[in-house]
Amino acid sequence: MPQVLRVALDTPLRRLFDYLPPLAGPPPAVGARVRVPFGRQRLVGLVMGTAGGSDLPAERLKPVLEVLDAQPVLDGAAVALLEWAAAYYHHPVGEVAAVALPRALREGAPSVAREEVWSLTAAGAEALRTDAARRAPRQRALLGLLAEGFTATAGALQGRLADWRAPARALRERGWAVRGELTAAPAPSAAAVRTPGPALVAEQAQAVAAVGAALGRFGAFVLHGITGSGKTEVYLRLVEQVLARGGRALILVPEIGLTPQLVGRFRERFDTPIAVMHSGLTDHERLLAWRDAFSGQARIVIGTRSAVFAPVPQLALIVVDEEHDASFKQHEGALRYSARDLAVVRAHHAGVPVVLGSATPSLESLHNVAAGRYTRLRLQQRAARAQPPVLKLLDLRSAAVQSGIATPAVLAIERHLKEDGQVLVFINRRGYAPTLLCTGCGWVAPCRECDARLTVHQGAGRLRCHHCGADAPLPARCPVCGFAVKAVGQGTERIEEALAATFPGVSIARLDRDVVRSRGDMEAVVGRMASGEARILVGTQMVTKGHDFPNLTLVVVLNADQGLFSTDFRAPERLAQTIVQVAGRAGRGARAGEVLIQSSFPEHPLLTRLLAEGYDGFAQAALEERAQAAWPPFARLAALRDSARSAEGALAFLVEARRLAAAPRGVRLLGPVPAAMARRAGRYHAQLLLESRERSRLHDFLDGWLPAVEQLKSARAVRWSLDVDPLELF
Ligand SMILES: [Zn+2]
Ligand SMILES: [Zn+2]
Repeated sequence: MPQVLRVALDTPLRRLFDYLPPLAGPPPAVGARVRVPFGRQRLVGLVMGTAGGSDLPAERLKPVLEVLDAQPVLDGAAVALLEWAAAYYHHPVGEVAAVALPRALREGAPSVAREEVWSLTAAGAEALRTDAARRAPRQRALLGLLAEGFTATAGALQGRLADWRAPARALRERGWAVRGELTAAPAPSAAAVRTPGPALVAEQAQAVAAVGAALGRFGAFVLHGITGSGKTEVYLRLVEQVLARGGRALILVPEIGLTPQLVGRFRERFDTPIAVMHSGLTDHERLLAWRDAFSGQARIVIGTRSAVFAPVPQLALIVVDEEHDASFKQHEGALRYSARDLAVVRAHHAGVPVVLGSATPSLESLHNVAAGRYTRLRLQQRAARAQPPVLKLLDLRSAAVQSGIATPAVLAIERHLKEDGQVLVFINRRGYAPTLLCTGCGWVAPCRECDARLTVHQGAGRLRCHHCGADAPLPARCPVCGFAVKAVGQGTERIEEALAATFPGVSIARLDRDVVRSRGDMEAVVGRMASGEARILVGTQMVTKGHDFPNLTLVVVLNADQGLFSTDFRAPERLAQTIVQVAGRAGRGARAGEVLIQSSFPEHPLLTRLLAEGYDGFAQAALEERAQAAWPPFARLAALRDSARSAEGALAFLVEARRLAAAPRGVRLLGPVPAAMARRAGRYHAQLLLESRERSRLHDFLDGWLPAVEQLKSARAVRWSLDVDPLELF
């Protein structure tokens, strides 16, 4: 029996596929791509390993058709990371590999850039000597150019002879020149510091020293720095050390579109190629960025979630900025993974330090600090004169409120504007109003596909569903009784309108997903605030992402109460993080900031603890609550979710799945229950929750249970997925 290749294919089957090496040529290395026959298809797969034999009878084993990579696209560490992710998330390894590689590579594109080259043939040299092209001066000129080096790249020809393509075609037709392809060797990339950074304060220097001392071995660090304390400068100094040692760094950020400033700071600081990977790239741009990383040309790779799989030769440091951010968790599609958690695993495999930075670290990370697994580095001073903002609760029950803004908040805005400050008004809801109500019969505009109301978008004259994207014209009258309708509640659009009426002549900017539709929109809004042209910024969550407005002195949080009474055990954590992050926008410059938080529940223990003791006090209280209730990080969760055309269908599969799990040891099954918003986009959603005090118990159980669940007949009637360590519970 010859050696058998074990190949991962992008199929939902939980296994590898056996193939024989190619009939001709050297066998592929582990981590290389191969093209293989699969039924009637030809698929691109990844060689994950080799074996001495196969369970398949020899006559059924087929050879691979083509080896696509002389140099594997995944090194040993990358293969190990894929295998780890497949095992931990209980997901087919072929689909995990599909997440790790850009689409172009999955379709067989070369892993290294190739350049078009043109060369002179012997007949061409003869033609030049006899001046056979004297009647075609452009062909003669091109022959002359090719004769200089006998081979020239398309780029070089373009620089010497404009419109060279037509004569080149003519030379080829006459047999005087040939076109070919060369593997483009990346130019060696230097890494120099362009502009030295500012002097570090003591805490920053200590953080840099602590991680710097761990370079060359694994260590997990939580860089817990209040907003404005200069976390980015710590990353920059560490990357500087890494580059000086000849290494490379991987920086993960929540969303590139929301953090152009971070990429900008790396570009300003370092004179070295940087590969940037995010969801806004075209397939081709993604391939180019991947190649820059793979070839080692890029010394720094900055990317969002899936960049945790990016190839980084001589990886020496991983940074996860804003590690608490929910966007690091992929909670849709095939593989549901946490890029933050995978970053820690990757750092461990690679033997390099990982830095998890945040002003509001996740409770999981703080728990890991308490357990001694992670080291916390604190930055508690704001850089350069800036004072921490003063937080105040504004009791909505005792204040006059107009259009969602309490009178004391209006007065504060007026005062700060008069003192030449800028103001941020935060409301985590876009659109004009969340509800359209008939004042005659009480009809409320519903989404036909979801258990949700349609949001009023006044400017666009539309009613839109924020869950399924349904879009309808805004009716002037009630479709049931014909009476007048009215918008109830507030969104960013309406707050902007109310502020414009209250402060005529004051320029107002808005930042939400309706405003930011394409590249550059965000920068335009940020630019208006940075230049001082806009005095008030109204925005959603988007405003919390790392923007620095030195003149911003007041932040008003309009609807803090959302999240105080949610059924999701993580809602308080998210609320506290949002409040602290939004508040952190105030007083980044020399002037102290003020933060007003409107609430109808100012005595809520979470809010009072947060205001009295800051995020630390809140986190401690929240962790104690989680410990008592046995929620993560004191327990491990997995959610088996599904959706179907009917509520009964969605529950039926989960009921059968639960029945398969006869009295598991150390694992509790909760449900199945319909989702809080059961109907979304016309489908009914339900969930079965699995919980265990011990991670290994949960995973052992899943190992045995899932293959059986997969075989259920009802599994084929629904769309189902398993989410290990789910962030959102519904
Ligand atoms: Zn009506
Ligand atoms: Zn909908």
